[in-house]
Amino acid sequence: MTSDSRQQPGVPVGAHAPVDAERLRESLTRLYDIYQKIAEKADDSFNKRCPYKDARSRCTANFGCRNQFFPKDRFERPVCSGSDKLDYRTSWDV
Ligand code: SF4
Repeated sequence: MTSDSRQQPGVPVGAHAPVDAERLRESLTRLYDIYQKIAEKADDSFNKRCPYKDARSRCTANFGCRNQFFPKDRFERPVCSGSDKLDYRTSWDV
């Protein structure tokens, strides 16, 4: 017989425990708060960091930008030399 770690005392194997609506509501509220903070951080970051800059500070844009610094290896993506403190959008050649 296998044991189910989610099994609750007093609840037969294979049966579902009754849903505790209050616990569920608290859990969903906590989850919503976590997602809201993630979204706020992403929005804040989007206003400062160019969306074309990847995690390694390489530029993924398919257009010219004066912040692009091209390495000697022409197959490598350009390095973004822009500051995350300035508005990057004025540097774009679009
Ligand atoms: S600021 Fe310019 S160089 Fe930097 S990631 Fe954005 S588009 Fe590329």
